[in-house]
Amino acid sequence: MAQILAPSTQWQMRLPKTTFGTPIQTKMWSSLVMKQNKQGAAKSSGRFRVVALAENSTVNRLEKLLNLDITPYTDKIIAEYIWIGGSGIDVRSKSRTISKPVEHPSELPKWNYDGSSTGQAPGEDSEVILYPQAIFKDPFRGGNNILVICDAYTPAGEPIPTNKRARAAEIFSNPKVVAEVPWFGIEQEYTLLQQNVKWPLGWPVGAYPGPQGPYYCGAGADKSFGRDISDAHYKACLYAGINISGTNGEVMPGQWEYQVGPSVGIEAGDHIWASRYILERITEQAGVVLTLDPKPIEGDWNGAGCHTNYSTKSMREEGGFEVIKKAILNLSLRHKDHISAYGEGNERRLTGKHETASIDTFSWGVANRGCSIRVGRDTEKNGKGYLEDRRPASNMDPYVVTSLLAETTILYEPTLEAEALAAQKIAINVLIGKHPWWAVNHAIERTHETASVLSIPARIFPIYFPMGNMATGFFIIFSLIAGVVGVATSVTGLTNVIQWDEPNLSAAAGSSFLTWTLTLPAMGLACKEINIGWTDANLRTLEVMTIILSATQLFCTGAIHAGVEDLAPKRPAVAGTV
Ligand code: ADP
Ligand code: MN
Ligand code: MN
Ligand code: MN
Repeated sequence: MAQILAPSTQWQMRLPKTTFGTPIQTKMWSSLVMKQNKQGAAKSSGRFRVVALAENSTVNRLEKLLNLDITPYTDKIIAEYIWIGGSGIDVRSKSRTISKPVEHPSELPKWNYDGSSTGQAPGEDSEVILYPQAIFKDPFRGGNNILVICDAYTPAGEPIPTNKRARAAEIFSNPKVVAEVPWFGIEQEYTLLQQNVKWPLGWPVGAYPGPQGPYYCGAGADKSFGRDISDAHYKACLYAGINISGTNGEVMPGQWEYQVGPSVGIEAGDHIWASRYILERITEQAGVVLTLDPKPIEGDWNGAGCHTNYSTKSMREEGGFEVIKKAILNLSLRHKDHISAYGEGNERRLTGKHETASIDTFSWGVANRGCSIRVGRDTEKNGKGYLEDRRPASNMDPYVVTSLLAETTILYEPTLEAEALAAQKIAINVLIGKHPWWAVNHAIERTHETASVLSIPARIFPIYFPMGNMATGFFIIFSLIAGVVGVATSVTGLTNVIQWDEPNLSAAAGSSFLTWTLTLPAMGLACKEINIGWTDANLRTLEVMTIILSATQLFCTGAIHAGVEDLAPKRPAVAGTV
């Protein structure tokens, strides 16, 4: 039977203004939203009207029952206990009756489920215990009914392996982390699929739509597919007390995003999981399949991520940009640890194309969407603000990602060796690594920002020379090499040239050519430096001299080579002698 998802006209549930705009603390929202009067409850019950397309009225009668307001008849409420299943991404839930409305998860009983059916426990000892951790208003049942986000433990009280919340809560209760009041703004992207063919919503079955371009934030029947789902979800989240901050249509048709935050600490994870559960329920009603796969369609189609915007108290205060840079340094040193915790299949998404950075290299930049970490223009301008970690995949676990960010940036202290190693890696990458010589140009520009987060002793030569710009260190090194070799070859070369005979002149020609080839890179770097805009007078003189030197060296080399040619005919034609 076909169904149409029709948003009810009774959507507007009024909540006090203070609920939005500031990060909602668990206590705040629970006390606010649970104080719902009977009239409000009656008005807001029945979040979706399921309209039957069939002639019989069965569904309409069902709808009546679904919308029944039970509050005049009983104090009892329905609590939907929600937990994360064995895959680490599937959400499961079951319902139970609670004797009266509650305002805090601590008022709720623990519960259990059969872990062998979710891939979380062996059959012979399958009981897993659910601990209620956060509550939200239930937008599907309305009234005083609630959604309960739980985490899972063994009967002995140990968190089961898929319980990532327990470890995260531990990190977020560390006094150092608490003092930094970590904020998270999470951009959850997702893709909608047609139920029967598992092909994106709005796409012709077995074929592709026109290339990306018109769809991002687009409107119109040929550009926007699934808006009702996105909108229904938006309101349902607001109703539930989720700190949702916006939505937008994405670059790939059938793909959407919503943002949750800024939320403080562990709350970010709770709110994302609750919002994902609500999205699963809404897509279920609409007969559309939700996927959080980071690259649902191979090829020239954007993947789906979960950008995590992050700040600490000191990043948001004066001088915050320096704190952000230090955080970026720590993040660069633990790139691999983060990548391995940022979602399954993320390597299919982080290719370096489609507004992503390659999975193997860490990079950061201001306003650069091709970096691992992006800092907004405003943050740079104001000297404080937040950073955006663009690496997490859409199927990441927000408990893992948020707590790892806090751990790496607040608790982790890198050793100087680790920094020096990182510095070396950057230098090697630029000098001989994956970049051919002509790419040094590009590499210097990219490395400039990357290396500027290193602390002073690690900003070693040649990445971060104490003066000048990013090209200076490289320029000095190459000038020195060219200089030393140049002096040595000049001394021998001069005596060779004075002799002015064939073997000596050939040797001089060889060494002068070598000197020239060594001076060339120095000259290139000098040009690069001037190009970046270094104006110190001494350095400029040195650069200009290098440029002139490489030209005169070329001339000398040419002259000596001509001499060799000139002497060649005079070579004695003596055979058999050495
Ligand atoms: P983008 O430009 O990358 O698409 P969005 O507007 O989609 O960014 O999302 C930005 C998110 O960052 C929002 O959820 C917002 O609430 C959050 N945010 C804003 N300021 C901060 C901050 N200081 N710390 C953490 N998150 C923040
Ligand atoms: Mn966004
Ligand atoms: Mn996006
Ligand atoms: Mn983003």
